[in-house]
Amino acid sequence: MISSCVVSLLNKPSLFLKGSRRLHLLNKNAYINGQWVSAGSKAVFPVINPADDKVITEVPDMEAADAKAAVDAASSAFKTWKDTTAKERSYILRKWYDMCAKNTDHLAQIITAESGKPLAESKGEIVYGNSFLEWFADTARHINGEVIPSPWPNKTIMLTRQPLGVVSVITPWNFPFAMITRKVGALMAAGCTCVIKPAEDTPLTALAAAKLAEEAGVPKGVINVVTSSRKNAPAIGKVLCEDPNVGCISFTGSTHVGKILYGMASKGIKRVSLELGGNAPFIVFPSADIEHAAEHAMLAKFRNNGQACVGANRFLIHKDVFDTFVQAFKKRIAKGCIMGPGTKEGVTCGPLINTEQAKKVTGLVDDALSKGAKALIGGKPAVEIGSKFYESTILTDVKPEMKIYAEEIFGPVAVCHKFETEQEVVAIANGTRSGLGSYVFTKDLGQAFRMSRQLDFGMVAINDGILSAAEPAFGGIKESGIGREGSKHGVEEYTDIKYTLFSALDK
Ligand code: ADP
Repeated sequence: MISSCVVSLLNKPSLFLKGSRRLHLLNKNAYINGQWVSAGSKAVFPVINPADDKVITEVPDMEAADAKAAVDAASSAFKTWKDTTAKERSYILRKWYDMCAKNTDHLAQIITAESGKPLAESKGEIVYGNSFLEWFADTARHINGEVIPSPWPNKTIMLTRQPLGVVSVITPWNFPFAMITRKVGALMAAGCTCVIKPAEDTPLTALAAAKLAEEAGVPKGVINVVTSSRKNAPAIGKVLCEDPNVGCISFTGSTHVGKILYGMASKGIKRVSLELGGNAPFIVFPSADIEHAAEHAMLAKFRNNGQACVGANRFLIHKDVFDTFVQAFKKRIAKGCIMGPGTKEGVTCGPLINTEQAKKVTGLVDDALSKGAKALIGGKPAVEIGSKFYESTILTDVKPEMKIYAEEIFGPVAVCHKFETEQEVVAIANGTRSGLGSYVFTKDLGQAFRMSRQLDFGMVAINDGILSAAEPAFGGIKESGIGREGSKHGVEEYTDIKYTLFSALDK
């Protein structure tokens, strides 16, 4: 239950008081072995509302020993969870889905409070994130094996899928609910248990989701949540990667941290599932419906204020339609990007998540402008609204010597370049070590198929700015990651194939 001291910390009490019947979703303890616990050291760290810089509450600042206790709990729970029937696991996942659906408004309020995204987007994230629980509740009952004709007489070859064991789930702040459900839904369906380490900016959503899992009947130890500040993340990460009881590390976050975790996982030859940074091209050819492309540019760029790994990072526009596209895009930004706190009616663009992100975006744009780039709209922080707000921006005349040319921006800044030929744009688009999402706008069917083949990205959207759902396989190539989430392939990340040979049983 929420304490009176937490209520006094809520500087926007109305945000939560509307849903006061369900205030227990705001939890300030971590969750290990079915218990709501503080850190062994009793240390805490604050969770900040990025819209007003005020403290929402404090949560345990856990250390390696706490992570070890969580891994032990998950390992112990695995012994029984792995032997539950697929039908039982499906039933429990479905109940968790129902609980989250019923509590959409309350979960959304927590997401908005700690991540800053507008309430409507937070609700959208619950629907999207919850679709993975629904999907994997179904998938759980279809993790089938194979019986293969044997090359030898009187022998049978059987392949079955075995759960990997304890999965360490390390998640980012940009989709604090969905990044958990698409991993945990899949791993639970497969028969694994987990320790979740949510991002330090957004631990409250993870704790709220765990609370609903507990209420849905997820057995103790199957899901554990270890919260920590950024300072303690490396020590916890080491346990979550190197403990011999961990079978898999499932991470979504930056390529930089992904490489550190991959290195640690390699010591124990652990399975990894890595969803890392992107550098998505958004390509518009002359045959495209330009108004449609501009509308979808809004979705691909400004969802979560540009803070998404599949967010469009480089707008590559054919020279014949460049001016028409940027004007249509600018018009939409001027009308559709309304900055403010996510709780305010009508707001579509919240703050950036933290001071580092705000500094990064400001630095990239300032560098580009100082070297000759032009801001068609926006181009500076919106300090009059709050310390982490940044204007929705279009930059043109960006050159390779500017830092913003090659970096993943992760903010509301659309960099628009001109190109002349299909061959040229493919080379520009593929000229990156990232390969997650990509977007192409064309009405030429042949060109659409060529783009699908030639773009070195895990995902290609033709004439659409949104491509993520539970049904398709989400994931990247090159330095954007390893493995796929969602689809029927999502559970494969958390299973090994076991080969059993049956021989000499009929003698
Ligand atoms: P972002 O740039 O989106 O914050 P990060 O990759 O920095 O992405 O962080 C994603 C997640 O990885 C967060 O939960 C963060 O606490 C965690 N993290 C960061 N560094 C480490 C580390 N060395 N070991 C384990 N987890 C880490």
